[in-house]
Amino acid sequence: MTKYVYFFGGGQADGASGMRNLLGGKGANLAEMTSIGLPVPAGFTITTEVCTAFYANDRQYPAGLIQEVSEHMARVEQLMGKKFGDRTNPLLVSVRSGSRASMPGMMDTVLNLGLNDETIRGIIDQSKDPRFAYDSYRRFIQMYANVVMGLKGDILEDIFEELKEDRGVDLDTELTADDLKQLVGLFKNKVKETLGTSFPENPQDQLWGAIGAVFGSWMNPRAITYRRLNNIPATWGTAVSVQSMVFGNMGNDCATGVAFTRNPSTGENLFFGEFLVNAQGEDVVAGIRTPQPINMAGGDGSLPSMEEVMPESYAQLMTIQQTLEKHYHDMQDIEFTIEKGRLFMLQTRTGKRTATAAIRVAVDMVREGLISQKEAILRVSPEQLDQLLHPSLDPKAEKQVIAKGLPASPGAASGEVVFYADEAESAAREGRKVILVRIETSPEDIHGMHAAQGILTTRGGMTSHAAVVARGMGKCCVSGCGDIRVNYEKELFVATGGVTVKKGDMLTLDGSTGQVMLGKVPTVQPELTGDFGTLMGWVDSVRRLKVRTNADTPHDAKVARNFGAEGIGLCRTEHMFFDAERIMAVREMILAEDLEGRTNALAKILPMQKSDFLGLFREMKDLPVTIRLLDPPLHEFLPQTEAEIVDLAKVMKVPPQTLHAKVDSLHETNPMLGHRGCRLGISYPEIYDMQVQAIIEAACELVKNEGFSIIPEIMIPLVSHVNELAVLRKNAIRVADEVIARYAVKVEYLIGTMIELPRAALTADEIATEAEFFSFGTNDLTQTCFGLSRDDAGKFLPSYVDQEILPEDPFVAIDQNGVGQLIQIGCEKGRKTRPAIKLGICGEHGGEPSSVIFCHKVGLDYVSCSPFRVPIARLAAAHAVLLED
Ligand code: PEP
Ligand code: MG
Repeated sequence: MTKYVYFFGGGQADGASGMRNLLGGKGANLAEMTSIGLPVPAGFTITTEVCTAFYANDRQYPAGLIQEVSEHMARVEQLMGKKFGDRTNPLLVSVRSGSRASMPGMMDTVLNLGLNDETIRGIIDQSKDPRFAYDSYRRFIQMYANVVMGLKGDILEDIFEELKEDRGVDLDTELTADDLKQLVGLFKNKVKETLGTSFPENPQDQLWGAIGAVFGSWMNPRAITYRRLNNIPATWGTAVSVQSMVFGNMGNDCATGVAFTRNPSTGENLFFGEFLVNAQGEDVVAGIRTPQPINMAGGDGSLPSMEEVMPESYAQLMTIQQTLEKHYHDMQDIEFTIEKGRLFMLQTRTGKRTATAAIRVAVDMVREGLISQKEAILRVSPEQLDQLLHPSLDPKAEKQVIAKGLPASPGAASGEVVFYADEAESAAREGRKVILVRIETSPEDIHGMHAAQGILTTRGGMTSHAAVVARGMGKCCVSGCGDIRVNYEKELFVATGGVTVKKGDMLTLDGSTGQVMLGKVPTVQPELTGDFGTLMGWVDSVRRLKVRTNADTPHDAKVARNFGAEGIGLCRTEHMFFDAERIMAVREMILAEDLEGRTNALAKILPMQKSDFLGLFREMKDLPVTIRLLDPPLHEFLPQTEAEIVDLAKVMKVPPQTLHAKVDSLHETNPMLGHRGCRLGISYPEIYDMQVQAIIEAACELVKNEGFSIIPEIMIPLVSHVNELAVLRKNAIRVADEVIARYAVKVEYLIGTMIELPRAALTADEIATEAEFFSFGTNDLTQTCFGLSRDDAGKFLPSYVDQEILPEDPFVAIDQNGVGQLIQIGCEKGRKTRPAIKLGICGEHGGEPSSVIFCHKVGLDYVSCSPFRVPIARLAAAHAVLLED
């Protein structure tokens, strides 16, 4: 018989940390903590298999589950010396979700379950604290009505606020036991009145209602969105942990808190966290009250720390956090509760961290002997590196700081202020950059947080929803910014200094300092030294794939070299033609009536092209540089407006009508499949001749005069048939050899092609007879393999991904089954003809981690990507090797 329920308590557990697929992260770690002797309240975990079966079986539980749950409840009762539903000595439990991957705040939780009008008596007698008892009861009704019964969040909250107003108090803690008792009655009446059903009194009904709600929350919209953003499959399911309650809200010798074994923003090896005296966990996470630091090192002295207020519990917690790090060999994120001076652990999980922290923790842990270099490399995700590679605020820039909050998630961001998540999303869709400003965020805001450049909240600490989620997303976030007051209705906020910021105003956040600035503040490029350099050194010693960059200018080439590029894999020469000084000559060339006209115009372009290549070669020293001959259809260079046509007509000394006619004649119905790439080289050989001449002259000059030893790689685009390449290669060799003879130097060069059409991949054995290298142009290869226009796919492809028709946008991550097969065939056939052929990729996929891993697997020699993605590709290439082991 399948076991559906796993027990933990009293130092023994059925599960272990390795069973997270079955027990979810929370359940597996509760079991593990119990086994290693940490104080964990007893409980049990219902497996993720039950969740999967529940959805596969029309929301029915598997047979035997109810019996198994009640047996495990009896074991918990025995251990705790209390009984679930008992009127004198009742056991109360929490019911929580826990999936394989952590999904903070995405699914539902119910606390204080088991309370009713009878068991409350027992709680009052046991605790001798009616105020606490009724506060727990009203919290339970609020949570249960909201999570399980589906009552709208604010309905009960409004009654709560009304009562406070009526009693003339500001804080929840100022309400008396009688007030809270009255609230319980009012809440129940409101539930009945609004939903038409009574609040359940029977603890068994409550328990199964909550279990059903947690399983149900696996399919709530915010959980679905979170899974989509984090690539978590729906089939994983969630587990449900039922655990005896311990109370952090029974008085001033009670507390609850959240902590990280190291600083999750900076990675510093310093125990770091927050706690609240006399509170339940929800109060810390929701950011309703501003928490206090757990230790003196983590605070600014304005609020007393746990280290000072509860020194004994702090010392115990310190020992536990050290035990956990040594046990798990990673930074942990823990939750704890202190009930009447006794410390209990409620959760441990791998702590989410910023990229800066990930690198620092990984490098430090190698130094501390906790992990190996290989483990350190695998600890940093390539996607996450992106955060580090973006600019930070220019320290020299003038800033108008209007407020300061907590530095919740580092990085700098500027954008227009918006106050609602939906608005952030629609603005981002229009390409506008926004800062989302909220009093506090909740899981409903997740899509807006994703769309925004940065997040600013007025409430909540370093472990609030906004802070945790922003760090996970690598977004800059300033939280708990009490210096501003948000008015949602008027869509503005006012800073204490009196500055009013309205929707649409430009704002800058610095998530590393917590500063909020008016306007847009200039930024500077990141410094990639220290721990980053150390880690990347290990990365480079492991990887086999080389990493080049796509660069069209010496500036890009320089940036890429700083990021570790080992050559240029693609220089798109057409980008050099758009310069204001050149475009006229290019247009003249395109619109010339005959060969002579074209040759005259090309003669003007030649020196400019040559200087471009000199610049690139110099910047790259003797690293390989692949230069692609002209690729796009010619009409892309032509004047569009009437004024531009008139100007050009004057330069060319022809009537504007003649130009009009020429522009019209170059119009194509489907230019992406039209007169472009090598087809231009076949029609107008003089264009490619000029480019080859410029490349080889630049190389000869540097070799002859400056001692370089460059081997330029000339790349011919959009080849579909070997005969195209044969003609163009012959031309290129003729021109190149003439130049070399003229300079009388020894310069070698390679001629190769892009594989970016299915026919080229399928006939790569033939094409390789004429090519010394292949570079897979996966942008066009994806376009032509799918028959999906690169320029139009944006209109419908996102909905394909939303509907899971495609797992991912194939222009972002290589479609391994389809496009990937073409690459594989291309490699095999190319190598068959020419075993030493150089193989690379230069489509956008060259910097996307899963695609880089694929490129490693099929045995490419290098990937080439945009400069800012070079470190990402280097790290992904090392992961590819380590994941193979
Ligand atoms: C490609 O098609 O993958 C490629 C690199 O060329 P472009 O994007 O310039 O068409
Ligand atoms: Mg292409």
